[in-house]
Amino acid sequence: MTLPPLVLGLESSCDDTAAALVRGRDVLSSVVMGQNALHSDFGGVVPEIAARAHAERLDTAVKQALSEADVRLTQVDAIAVTSGPGLIGGVLSGVMVAKGLSIGLRKPLIGVNHLAGHALTPRLTDDLAYPYLMLLVSGGHCQFLIARGPQDFTRLGGTIDDAPGEAFDKTARLLGLAQPGGPSVEAEARKGDEKRFRFPRPLLDRAGCDMSFSGLKTALLRQRDALVADQGGLTEQDRADLCAGFQAAVRDVLSEKTRRALALYLEEAPESPAIAIAGGVAANQSIRAALQTLCDDQAVRFTAPPLRLCTDNAAMIAYAGSELFAAGVTHDMSLSARPRWPLDQKAAPLLGSGKKGAKA
Ligand code: AMP
Ligand code: MG
Repeated sequence: MTLPPLVLGLESSCDDTAAALVRGRDVLSSVVMGQNALHSDFGGVVPEIAARAHAERLDTAVKQALSEADVRLTQVDAIAVTSGPGLIGGVLSGVMVAKGLSIGLRKPLIGVNHLAGHALTPRLTDDLAYPYLMLLVSGGHCQFLIARGPQDFTRLGGTIDDAPGEAFDKTARLLGLAQPGGPSVEAEARKGDEKRFRFPRPLLDRAGCDMSFSGLKTALLRQRDALVADQGGLTEQDRADLCAGFQAAVRDVLSEKTRRALALYLEEAPESPAIAIAGGVAANQSIRAALQTLCDDQAVRFTAPPLRLCTDNAAMIAYAGSELFAAGVTHDMSLSARPRWPLDQKAAPLLGSGKKGAKA
């Protein structure tokens, strides 16, 4: 039996410099060099700093990935790289390195959509068959997609403003908690009473599965300022209760909109009742548990990849690259970096933008 091709993946679309080696569904190595320390003084990712760091570190990430997988560069059969969407400087760094490797090694080059990488991850980790419903929920994205193939996606809905991860990060900032905000807000919420403060459940009164999260941080800001005006500051318990109320609102919106997306999806694909989530917010236990319950109630398979493959990484890019390669897709030196690149090209653009820029 011939082995599946050995694919080197590169990812540099936001603030993680990553390289990985994947053969079929085997992840031989997955190196992720984060940049939190470089951006922490600025309260968000600074595109120029990110791009420079990617350019400086990509070769180190590749070397480390080769060494951990115990393979030589000459054994690589194809090079897959995130060619969008994302911060243009970072994407360019990755594309240039991938082109150099492709020319030097005389091996095929495959440009991969970063969102497709996330969306195909449950096939890498759980061998999930097409079609399935995907909820991509991260620091920069929130959308429901029907995945039918490596280049065949239908968007059912998404956020019209902030991504949920961005809302968690802003909430943490407003309450003086550590970044990234998701884990700190979740830890506080565990000690809090979700019913003490009223948070809105935006867009639940509107049909369909579009979402909005920007109003939640405004609601939080108002409640925080009212407490400060009243008592001169926040107690530990106030902070925990605010986090719990905020998290419950995000959970309820995601859960109700997922129920609706699932109904739309099952009309199209009743033979394949499956939903998968990806993105950093998928780490949230309360959100995960709500979605798991929803799926259990409807006898729908629920897949959540392990966190290291849910957040940005290059194994997902190498894997998506393998699927494209198997489908005969390769690119030449005209491959360009695309800051915007919606997965569903036919869907009307959503209004929103994430902290990492409007993308989809
Ligand atoms: P990503 O954009 O996929 O790299 O994921 C990063 C985003 O996920 C950040 O906005 C984090 O705040 C968010 N995040 C990480 N862990 C959690 C969590 N436990 N709960 C909610 N959000 C989270
Ligand atoms: Mg991502």
